[in-house]
Amino acid sequence: MYAQVWIEEATRGFDRDWSYKIPEELIGKIKPGCLVEVPFARRKQPVRAYVYNVFAERPASAEELDLRSIANLVLPEPVVTSEMLELAREMRRRYFCSRGRAVRTMVPATVSTVGDRKELAARLSDPACVVDMLAEDEFTSLGHIRVCEFLLVHESALLSEIRQACQVSSNVLTYMKNKGILEYFPQKVRRVLEPAPAIELPPQSITLTSEQTEAVESINSALKLTEQGCLKEFLLQGVTGSGKTEIYLQAAAKILSQGKSVLILVPEIALTPLMMARVSERFQDEVAILHSRLTPVERYETWKLILQGERHIVVGARSAVFAPLSDLGLIVVDEEQDHSYKSETTPRYHAVELARIRAILNGAVLVLGSATPSVETSYRALQGRSTKLELPTRVGGAGMAKVSIVDLRRERAAGHKSLFSRPLVKALKDTFSRDEQAMLLINRRGFSTTIICNDCGEILTCPSCDIALTVHKNPWQKETVGNHLICHYCGKVSSLPPDCPSCGGSELDSVGAGTQQAEALFAELFSPAKAVRMDLDTTSGRYSHQEILDAFSRREYDCLIGTQMIAKGHDFHNVTLVGVLSADQILAQSDYRARESAFQLLTQSAGRSGRGELPGQVIIQTSQPDNTVIRTAAEQDFSAFIESELQFRQRAGYPPFGHIGLILISGLKENLVREHAEKLRKHLCAQMERYPASFAQTELLPCQRAPLARLRGRYRYRLIAKSPSKEELTSLLRAADSFKRRTDLTVVLDINPYSML
Ligand code: ADP
Ligand code: ZN
Repeated sequence: MYAQVWIEEATRGFDRDWSYKIPEELIGKIKPGCLVEVPFARRKQPVRAYVYNVFAERPASAEELDLRSIANLVLPEPVVTSEMLELAREMRRRYFCSRGRAVRTMVPATVSTVGDRKELAARLSDPACVVDMLAEDEFTSLGHIRVCEFLLVHESALLSEIRQACQVSSNVLTYMKNKGILEYFPQKVRRVLEPAPAIELPPQSITLTSEQTEAVESINSALKLTEQGCLKEFLLQGVTGSGKTEIYLQAAAKILSQGKSVLILVPEIALTPLMMARVSERFQDEVAILHSRLTPVERYETWKLILQGERHIVVGARSAVFAPLSDLGLIVVDEEQDHSYKSETTPRYHAVELARIRAILNGAVLVLGSATPSVETSYRALQGRSTKLELPTRVGGAGMAKVSIVDLRRERAAGHKSLFSRPLVKALKDTFSRDEQAMLLINRRGFSTTIICNDCGEILTCPSCDIALTVHKNPWQKETVGNHLICHYCGKVSSLPPDCPSCGGSELDSVGAGTQQAEALFAELFSPAKAVRMDLDTTSGRYSHQEILDAFSRREYDCLIGTQMIAKGHDFHNVTLVGVLSADQILAQSDYRARESAFQLLTQSAGRSGRGELPGQVIIQTSQPDNTVIRTAAEQDFSAFIESELQFRQRAGYPPFGHIGLILISGLKENLVREHAEKLRKHLCAQMERYPASFAQTELLPCQRAPLARLRGRYRYRLIAKSPSKEELTSLLRAADSFKRRTDLTVVLDINPYSML
């Protein structure tokens, strides 16, 4: 017997099917999708590989060769299905990764440590001392601070859990161990799944509204018709609270009753205990929920249950698109416009794109749900490539909030420069006096966004990133005073210098307000009303995100102040006012999606107000009241926005009318990075000249420094190609991918990236 395998860590040249003999004792055990170890090239150690196919005949391509044998079967059962192997091929084609790498992206990490009954855990060597060090701000890295805070709360945790919860690498942990801050010890790994948090749901009898019924019926009739290889796609557009989730659940129930399986993707932030309770209540033992708070082991155990066919419905965030369900009948992507569906690490896949491919491979129905669909998705519906279903009203008759705009130019002209305009102050006071709650959106964390020298105009920047530093009021201990400068890219913490490092001037001014400043001002203006802040700095622990929301929903606070994380998914019936402190800040991003993101964020924020019986109100502060985005968002006029946005995209050749290929080259030596970028460009130009027919519509722009010219000490250059044809662009990027690269440089390839910086 023979097997064809894909090497997990294959470089481009080795990314193909490799043939091996199956040793006697493994015959019958090795199946497609199995994880094995094979001898490879001149490596001393066998390498990991995924079995792609098993043959009784010696593969023709390998006839001449003296085949080696598979060394070892790592896990007794396959780790992926055959469909996932197909998906891996497709990922290689679209996202320039090897097939082995694609499979590794699908399979949860714990596969590598399985078999070990014990894993390393860490605790603080001296918690009291760490408390002191935090108070004296002896830590220079936000990552270290997060780890310390985390372990002060949880006492001990597995290294993998710490990495996940604190967003740090193992290097950070090793460093802290070597410094004597942490100590490691082996801990038994808990392999039993923790039960989902018990939440009492109010008994609900649901009779679908006529719009909901219509939508469910359309989806159900499509479910009967689809067959493998063709796509039946729906766009379910309805404001939050219009009953979309109810439709997903009903369509899912239908599919399950036919013995097929269901995949529901939601943004991570929407995986609240409430949502999980709702799904679990409906589907009980049939459902597996993949959320980021699962420990790695829990994730792996859940994966196995799905693979073994013991779970038929999976709910999860981006990576759940890889859930190894067989015989999919329905795939739902809720909040399909959400950016979290795009992976920002290699392979840079888009979960909606993969969901669509899986729908085709399985003959499943794809339902994309949203209150504000992305421009691309709306365009598909306009073109008739998907069927649009609409839910125009909120269930239960709650109206939409009333939106008003405050023109900040007029406020300033009248001498009011505060972050809180007069109408907003009044509205907040009225709200609190009625014992109702408010939410304030400010899309920057920290205290202020920049420090500028009034004498020379110098802006304080991170020494390794060339990025303006953000001022944070002592981020870890509220009691002590003191300001810190934090780089939002590399996390480096430094203290505020007394004078300008460039001219020695003593007038350093902070400009641009962030969440902390809003919180401080709030206390000054509205005490005794109480506010709680929610941003990356207050939510790094495993449960803190939920703790803040729970406290707010128990009305322990009158106001929730935060970044965009507050804008999504939460349902607080007592919130009747939402304030957007600076819509200008939201608009001021320099890429082609900025307008769309701003529209979505404003609309979502507006959707937070007046969710219950009480009528809601929204106040948007801006200096550009006539801006189309702000105007259409205030009027909640989605079609008007899409119309103007499609015109803009068409003129500029942006998606969905054209595509953008990004090649980002970075390294420690600027001249090397630039030279390589130039060489690569020459190479690509030569290819384009050589095969003019294959690149007829493609334009390669000159090589440039990236807008973020330096990050963590690395210089960054970029090449951008534009083309109405995605195929051409893919070929071009593939040519860039095969161009020999220097080992000291990093090259990132992305099509239609979410971040162009
Ligand atoms: P969306 O997903 O669009 O935000 P949901 O499906 O979560 O909306 O519905 C919002 C609320 O209304 C939920 O509490 C849900 O249980 C309830 N709901 C949905 N449809 C109905 C219905 N037909 N009758 C009564 N309540 C409903
Ligand atoms: Zn930095």
